[in-house]
Amino acid sequence: MTKYIFVTGGVLSSLGKGLASASIGALLEARGYRVAIQKLDPYINVDPGTMSPFQHGEVFVTDDGAETDLDLGHYERFTRMVGSQKNNLTTGRVYQKVITKERRGDYLGNTVQVIPHITDEIKAAIKKVGQDGCDVVIVEIGGTVGDIESLPFLEAIRQLRLEVEAGDAINIHLTFVPYLKSAQELKSKPTQHSVKELRSIGIQPDMILCRCEVPLPESVAKKIALFCNVHPNHVKAAVDVDNIYKVPLAFAQQQVDTTICKLLHLPDGPRDLSAWETLQSIIDQDKPSVDIGIVGKYVDYPDSYKSLHEALVHAGFAHRHNVNIHWIESAMFEDAQNFGTLREMDAILVPGGFGIRGVEGMIQAVRFARENKVPFFGICLGMQIACIEFARHKAGLKGANSSEFQDDPDYKVIYKLRELVDVDEYGGTMRLGAFDCELSPDSFAYKAYEKAMISERHRHRFEFNKAYREPLEKAGLKFTGISPNGLFVEIVEVADHPWFLGCQFHPEFKSKPFTPHPLFRDFIGAAVSFRKAKSEKKSKTKAETVS
Ligand code: GLN
Repeated sequence: MTKYIFVTGGVLSSLGKGLASASIGALLEARGYRVAIQKLDPYINVDPGTMSPFQHGEVFVTDDGAETDLDLGHYERFTRMVGSQKNNLTTGRVYQKVITKERRGDYLGNTVQVIPHITDEIKAAIKKVGQDGCDVVIVEIGGTVGDIESLPFLEAIRQLRLEVEAGDAINIHLTFVPYLKSAQELKSKPTQHSVKELRSIGIQPDMILCRCEVPLPESVAKKIALFCNVHPNHVKAAVDVDNIYKVPLAFAQQQVDTTICKLLHLPDGPRDLSAWETLQSIIDQDKPSVDIGIVGKYVDYPDSYKSLHEALVHAGFAHRHNVNIHWIESAMFEDAQNFGTLREMDAILVPGGFGIRGVEGMIQAVRFARENKVPFFGICLGMQIACIEFARHKAGLKGANSSEFQDDPDYKVIYKLRELVDVDEYGGTMRLGAFDCELSPDSFAYKAYEKAMISERHRHRFEFNKAYREPLEKAGLKFTGISPNGLFVEIVEVADHPWFLGCQFHPEFKSKPFTPHPLFRDFIGAAVSFRKAKSEKKSKTKAETVS
């Protein structure tokens, strides 16, 4: 029998509902349960694929090519779950389904309404997640209780709880308990109001997770319990931590999982938290650092590159190094070739992106990395930029460009393959989701993955134009990853370089704290060696000057 945990949020947004859901999932897995997590998003977009990263942050891509909310990234990083389209549902998608059915005449003349038609569709989507044999489905409801938008989702979980046996579904409410400096007190009133709102629509939380910046005194927890009609032992503190990977252990300390097991009538057998404990000790260890420059255009919005940030952190764990990430606006290299900041870096990364803004600056940054032999990693747009840079400055193709940035460049090194070849099997206008790639034996890529066939996730419209493979190869670019059908270039490398690799896919989506992605691991490894060599050179020069 599948059990359900519904997670709602109160008082304000950005409380970390996604991380809380992912951490609960991790703790249940540590007890041997199979977990799936689903995100319900109240907005009208059918999926976040059309939303600007400035507004919505990263679009997380799953193996099946779904463009989903970035919280799915947390779910995959914290648990063994492999997400798919069914793990993310938006109001837009629900309405689209219902309206399609209505047009088909499926409702047989009935008036189509929010209750029951929209709520039935939501419940069906929640149940679907539990169908492939998982023990617990955690459902995170986006938005804040009190928003008009999320009401149908809340109504659906209210109904669903009544449909299952007692003890098969629980509600957890994550709220904010602010610390008032002048009174030197944590205040419970906003939580009381938020729970009141929740109860007014028929939902009684079973557990309240109180996000707070200082430990929650028992007196405040008791007050919250009394006013919110919750057992005092079920009011838990979610105190701020300095690293997101410490949340599962912080929850475990509060017995969040033990209480959940009790509420869901699940045996609370032994839990194995050793992997999280090891991770925590690595985090707390005194470690040297490396400086990584990310040259892009959404750099003021780190949420736009959530998975990228995490993948770099994971690779740092593998090398026992802190990874200092420097977000560098590429436009700064466009006019003046002021590479001062880049000289401070131990490695340079150009991430994915769309549109022309900042592209010429990225080309300059790649040139700097290639010529100065600074470890370089180009991801998706970053690989395309690396190809353009190489074509222009190494292969003598001066007017090389992508047709994304220029209608008819002299040398269309990057182009939309779909304009010329019928590749319908790849779906709409974007190449989305997991595709296989074959690696050449003698390459940075093969060294990292230690196998010849890999599968990685994609999200792009443009491709490398194979007509330019020969001239670029002659000039020294290596094509070390190709799709098995031979159509797509997936990885390019520069051989005479400590580590220079561009990939058309997004490896960051598959990195986990315990199993860092091999490409990120080796990129950070190269940065560590680069830094070491740099400091050895510096001390040698110093010694020579002194003598
Ligand atoms: N804009 C490029 C394309 O569509 C790269 C996309 C990306 O980096 N995700 O092909």
